[in-house]
Amino acid sequence: MIRKITFLLLFSCLSIPVFSQSNLKTENVILITLDGFRWQELYTGIDAGLMNNEEYVENQDHLKELYWAENPELRREKLMPFFWTTIAREGQLYGNRNAGNHVNVTNGLFFSYPGYNEILTGYADEKVDSNDKIWNPNKTVLEFVNEQPEFAGKVAAFASWDVFPFIINSQRSGIPVNAGFEPVEGTELTDRERFLNELISEIPSPWGTVRLDAFTHHYALEHLKTDKPRLLYVAYGETDDFAHDGDYEAYIKSANQTDRFIRQLWEFVQEEEQYRGKTTFIITTDHGRGTEPTDQWRHHGADVDGADEIWIAAIGPDTPALGELGESGQLYQNQIAKTVAELLGLNYQNKVVVGDAINTIIQNSN
Ligand SMILES: [Zn+2]
Repeated sequence: MIRKITFLLLFSCLSIPVFSQSNLKTENVILITLDGFRWQELYTGIDAGLMNNEEYVENQDHLKELYWAENPELRREKLMPFFWTTIAREGQLYGNRNAGNHVNVTNGLFFSYPGYNEILTGYADEKVDSNDKIWNPNKTVLEFVNEQPEFAGKVAAFASWDVFPFIINSQRSGIPVNAGFEPVEGTELTDRERFLNELISEIPSPWGTVRLDAFTHHYALEHLKTDKPRLLYVAYGETDDFAHDGDYEAYIKSANQTDRFIRQLWEFVQEEEQYRGKTTFIITTDHGRGTEPTDQWRHHGADVDGADEIWIAAIGPDTPALGELGESGQLYQNQIAKTVAELLGLNYQNKVVVGDAINTIIQNSN
């Protein structure tokens, strides 16, 4: 019966998105990004060369005590315990190039706006070629989902970087995007939201366009509690900025803290009737960073070798527990948008061909 409906819908009104799934448990998706966090640290933990380089780390013994282990598997678990206990056991991890598993961006630029455009629209657009505050002419999967009647008003985004309202085009899409140094607005704010609004004006950020991730995280968590979105996007930003600053200690500590934040979101989800057993997390990054020569870990962009190398993680009720994926895998950044939509039972298309959904993430994928 469901097949028949899909069939009829397909041929009666091609422009209306059809439900392609009927047997998925996922009803909510949380999409998470860590700006410019390298696969090297995700898969092998803290880097010995950078940890011991006094140009990048002031307090080397302290960092070593917290995150060092001889064995890379122990090292990565110290750095990203949620990834390497919960996700590795119950979900999937792509992009460990040491194991022959690759994930790449398809835009040729390897910096943020082109990367987020690719993640969120499902294709690389060569006209998106700067990080300027330009209203994105392209429609994102967030906007597409928000247009579906059963998801209308149930999509939201929280981001540390103040360019996100433009990337998601909050003006056109109508999606609430809280980003940069904006407090959250509303007549019925929670105590925590009011307190965060006070702190955000009191605590100086190290950067002009990016707030500290704790604000993004706790605003997003409050929104989850009070508004119950079905598609939430959380874009953490610190890792990229600390790397540009050449502060490896802060880059590492931020990655570790973001792992805790993601665990906190996951644990909250397990406590809530709307979300428990019905929510999938997709986690990724907008670009990689360099490795050679040493100082290239700070940088990315078209002229930095390896800055197109990224990773993807997934965990949820429709995602088989394959753990860390091995040899001869190849995924692309442009596959995330369609994967998010398909998990929500929607067949996402755009004005140009988008990357295929990642079928291994969706067990009962047709
Ligand atoms: Zn950057």
